[in-house]
Amino acid sequence: MKTLLTILAASLCIYASAQKKTPESTEIWKPVPPVVLPGDGTAPPSDAIVLFDGTNLDQWQNKTGKEAGWIVENGYVTVKRGTGSILTKASFADIQLHIEWRSPEEVQGEGQGRGNSGVFLMDRYEVQVLDSYENQTYSNGQAASIYKEHIPLVNACRKPDEWQTYDIIFTAPHFGESGRVVIPAYVTVIHNGVLVQNHVAIWGNTEFIGAPSYKPHDAKLPLSLQNHFNSVSYRNIWVREL
Ligand code: MG
Repeated sequence: MKTLLTILAASLCIYASAQKKTPESTEIWKPVPPVVLPGDGTAPPSDAIVLFDGTNLDQWQNKTGKEAGWIVENGYVTVKRGTGSILTKASFADIQLHIEWRSPEEVQGEGQGRGNSGVFLMDRYEVQVLDSYENQTYSNGQAASIYKEHIPLVNACRKPDEWQTYDIIFTAPHFGESGRVVIPAYVTVIHNGVLVQNHVAIWGNTEFIGAPSYKPHDAKLPLSLQNHFNSVSYRNIWVREL
């Protein structure tokens, strides 16, 4: 009875407060968001984890846990044939990621063979990197596609040898006790300032052949960059954990 009276009194208070319709009745003062100093342009904000600042690959390794073998020079890193993909030493779940990439100046090959690399969220969900400037391929495999899943809304690709940006917001999938996915991963991609993937649900692990499907995995996993043999370069890579 006492509980019932308490609930009733609280409800009357909320009702009375709403009826007042003062400006203050809809103000929320806490929590206060922490201060973050934004960087200039594409420079990292103050709470970012810098994964590559142009000087070394200390935050990265190859798939066997050994030193990442890609070439660092002039403030960027370039894929090196025969050294495999590289992945971060740290693991992440929900992130905001900024990464800049450039396809080779000398245009070689066509379709998927031209400037192919990829940003693999959690080392398994690929945001495609491809030279899609006047280069036809299947739409769900062009630059900024979620590879073999989601077609980008538009093609915002710059020319070869020009630096391009991806700003990616990713939330990791959640798995139930049975191992089945209960909340899929979601991703938003902004390519050179243009929205190309708007909070799309990822269907599962990126597959070259066959339909994607989820396989349960750890809550946090490394980010990886694909070695697809083309000399794609990267610079200014940072993440914010969400
Ligand atoms: Mg790729």
